[in-house]
Amino acid sequence: MNPKSNTDLFIDRHLGLNDNDEKKMLQKLGFNNIDEFIHQVIPEDIQLKEKCSDVLPKGCSEIEALNELEEISNKNHKFRSLIGLGYYGTHTPKVIQRHVLENPRWYTAYTPYQAEIAQGRLEALFNFQTLICELTGFSIANASLLDEGTAASEAMTMSFSSRKNKSSNTFLVDENVFDHTFNVLLTRAKPLGIKLKRFNQKYFNNHDDVFGLLIQLPGKNGDLFDPTFLISQAHKAEIVVTSIIDPLAQVLIKPIAQFGVDIAVGSLQRFGVPMGFGGPHAAFFACTEKYKRLIPGRIVGQTLSKNGEQSLRLALQTREQHIRREKATSNICTAQSLLAIISSFYATYHGSLGLTKMAKRLVVLRRYLESLLSELGLKIPLGSRFDSFDIYCEESEKIHKEALKNGFNFRILPLGSSIEESKGFGISLDELTDKNEIHKIVNCVANGLGRKEDLTHITLNNCFQFEGIPLRNKEWMQQNVFENYQSETDLMRYIFKLAEKDFSLVDGMIPLGSCTMKLNSAAELSPISWANLSSIHPFAPANQTNGYSKIISDLEKWISDLIGLNSVSFQPNAGSQGEFAGLLAINSYFSSKGDLLRKKCLIPQSAHGTNPASAVMAGFDVVTIKCDSEGNISYEDLLNKVQEFDNTIGALMLTYPSTHGVFELKIREICDLIHSVGAFVYLDGANLNAQVGLCRPGDYGVDVCHLNLHKTFCIPHGGGGPGVGPVATSETLSPFLPSHSLKDNTFSQFGYSVSSSQHGSASILPISWMYIKMAGQRGLRKASSHAILSANYIANTLKNKFKILYKGQNNCVAHECILDFRELKSKTGLSVNDIAKRLIDYSFHAPTISWPVPETIMIEPTESESLTELNRFCEAMILISEEIEEIENNINLRNNNLISNAPHTINELIADNWNYPYSKEKAAYPYKGKFEHKFWSSVSRIDNAYGDRNLICSCNVNDKDFLDDKKCA
Ligand SMILES: *Cc1c(COP(=O)(O)O)cnc(C)c1O
Repeated sequence: MNPKSNTDLFIDRHLGLNDNDEKKMLQKLGFNNIDEFIHQVIPEDIQLKEKCSDVLPKGCSEIEALNELEEISNKNHKFRSLIGLGYYGTHTPKVIQRHVLENPRWYTAYTPYQAEIAQGRLEALFNFQTLICELTGFSIANASLLDEGTAASEAMTMSFSSRKNKSSNTFLVDENVFDHTFNVLLTRAKPLGIKLKRFNQKYFNNHDDVFGLLIQLPGKNGDLFDPTFLISQAHKAEIVVTSIIDPLAQVLIKPIAQFGVDIAVGSLQRFGVPMGFGGPHAAFFACTEKYKRLIPGRIVGQTLSKNGEQSLRLALQTREQHIRREKATSNICTAQSLLAIISSFYATYHGSLGLTKMAKRLVVLRRYLESLLSELGLKIPLGSRFDSFDIYCEESEKIHKEALKNGFNFRILPLGSSIEESKGFGISLDELTDKNEIHKIVNCVANGLGRKEDLTHITLNNCFQFEGIPLRNKEWMQQNVFENYQSETDLMRYIFKLAEKDFSLVDGMIPLGSCTMKLNSAAELSPISWANLSSIHPFAPANQTNGYSKIISDLEKWISDLIGLNSVSFQPNAGSQGEFAGLLAINSYFSSKGDLLRKKCLIPQSAHGTNPASAVMAGFDVVTIKCDSEGNISYEDLLNKVQEFDNTIGALMLTYPSTHGVFELKIREICDLIHSVGAFVYLDGANLNAQVGLCRPGDYGVDVCHLNLHKTFCIPHGGGGPGVGPVATSETLSPFLPSHSLKDNTFSQFGYSVSSSQHGSASILPISWMYIKMAGQRGLRKASSHAILSANYIANTLKNKFKILYKGQNNCVAHECILDFRELKSKTGLSVNDIAKRLIDYSFHAPTISWPVPETIMIEPTESESLTELNRFCEAMILISEEIEEIENNINLRNNNLISNAPHTINELIADNWNYPYSKEKAAYPYKGKFEHKFWSSVSRIDNAYGDRNLICSCNVNDKDFLDDKKCA
């Protein structure tokens, strides 16, 4: 034994099962050891033969990994970045950092599809929507999008699909919109046949073929203008107008909706979320009522529960890709819930007064800085500005060098040039700026100019002056939630009050099939708060970001090795974006060969909704492939379609193990067939948790694959985001991965970006780095084996009570199993949704229901759950099966029973009347006599349809029942 290394291997903490449990479970399944078991589950011809990778880490303790990561992160240099361009310094109030960002009740929660046990985060997201409505003046906002660039793109595509004149195909983009936003728009526009044109708002004239127009306030040079006239001109030509707006500038400016724009988007990063080398941050999307059925992303809406409690749930889900598939208007699934929640608490904490004070202070400081620089002889441009300005001058090279010497990064002008080539500098102030900092900035500039005068006689004029654009002139953010929590005690209690309504991994297993809710360990999560990682600007000079480069290149090496592919891009900030990027890589490859016919994308019936939605966005026509009775791809149908479409096929998109939870035996044949017509195989890698360390997609024929780091590689779900959806490709396709114009010299003919920053949600990559580093090659293999073992253990334990829908070879499932409830309705009148709600009474979060097969549940236990917890789940399911039998045999009523009335709440139990035909004990403590930790649903069964008929997705103080509503609280 090496006395130097700590023997407390992390993997033993990550896994829920110890050697003894493993043995017991294998015995039950009839196997002697784990390798023998895995050999039975995974098809022989794809198994990774036991070989040692010299690329993957060996595995270690959390102490060792943390020490190494600290050393790496110290290679980043924390400068004061005043570069702006959509990323600003901000202070996350510690009360929010500690109780939200670093609190597993918030970050380990799942997307709030089980609304009864998600009222806390639904309320926080509802507050976010209310905040966006108050800021922008619109009455509808969604619960976040991925970043500013993708939000602007969603606005473009929504304008496109709602355009009146179907032959118009031009989208105008103001010259002052960030170039990185423009590049994301360009990526989205091309496959849809949208033409992008840059224009100058001063010289706008009508174009017949224009359907939409985008402006940005303030623009990339800091300039603001009054868009009223432009908008009225555009509307005369039936052009839909979108404005990107800086939320802190919007605090002062008249709400953008009142200028007449149709859609407003932007990033709420500067509301308390660190820059983090580019993300994650919450983008917002707000618009007029007219578009409510076209809005991309999730919307939280009010509704009522069975007992009349006012409650919240996800609204208008019929818009979303999981239902609309290739007809969806957007492929977005995972968004930025946790960051939206952080920003909403930031607004709650500061209130309208605090935010206004902060924004005004910035204007005062910016004017002060300008007056000092003008005193030094620099020419300050005319015009209206908020917090930023650009100055062109001869001495810019020297000024930038002085700035760097003193720990500052200024914006290098023109954008994209080096310091040596620069012709000017730009500065964006932020929440962290104070008078002292202004003096330091002035000193840098004075030194750069070689000037030595004493400017102490110029004092800070506290007089607020902001001209050139109409300002907000009414009270706003008057809702209770923005007024009542401005002491730390009050906010702390509010945060915990909400968190306690939610079921998270803190409470028990979340057995969601396809979503892999495994442990998000404290050691993995803690580095994201380190300043050397969180405070780095995405466009900081490369020599300040060597730490990030190392983390990203390590991860690229490791992931490439794990999946058997060549290169990885971390730019996509969710699985859906990874799919889009991967398909674009295929597209770009064929374009580069001049092969423009390959427009067909084959997708099995059972695919996740994002697959067809992404394929359409990437310009493909979707050809659906049937599945056989075992849930596998019908090889016959595939063969027919391949023969029919032949060299017009670009890709097959498949999920492996299949969405039905089995390892198909024909996978190699399927890949060979696709290659035989010159097309590529795309793997939706969300199910990688059954493969890591056991088999490699690249080895059996996959060419492109996205991974969900927020599933397999321990990034928490955050209640619906953040995510990271890196896309990996073979060597042939590597040149066609996403790039970034400001950061990457290869951004040329086939360059494109899918996110605003080069590495997307870079600041959460250390989580996956820590996991792989600590688990090591053997640990990762063991984790996948245990995930499969646990799923088979559950399937085996429940097989006498429920029908297991699909099985692979040797009667085994992969890392998840599907229970069939399709006969439940005719036998009992119940639906699978009732079973999900009854599980809440048993202190469980429901598994995935009715996907990929209606009226089934899909259970994925992951490797992190203990045998005790697996048994608790099985016991709950078996007790529920007895409850079902009693209904079936008419011992209990069909329409008034334990299951149909679930979940049962404390309010129902303590009420004087108990009107149900069964005991309270059976309702609320169903585990025969065991009074363990009980999770209570805060509301009774929620009525989804009611909320969709009466859509309310923000708290509007002008509503007539506003006062009765106690300001929506
Ligand atoms: C989760 C999932 C996706 C979508 O990933 P997001 O990060 O939510 O966009 C796609 N495919 C499958 C099979 C998934 O489970």
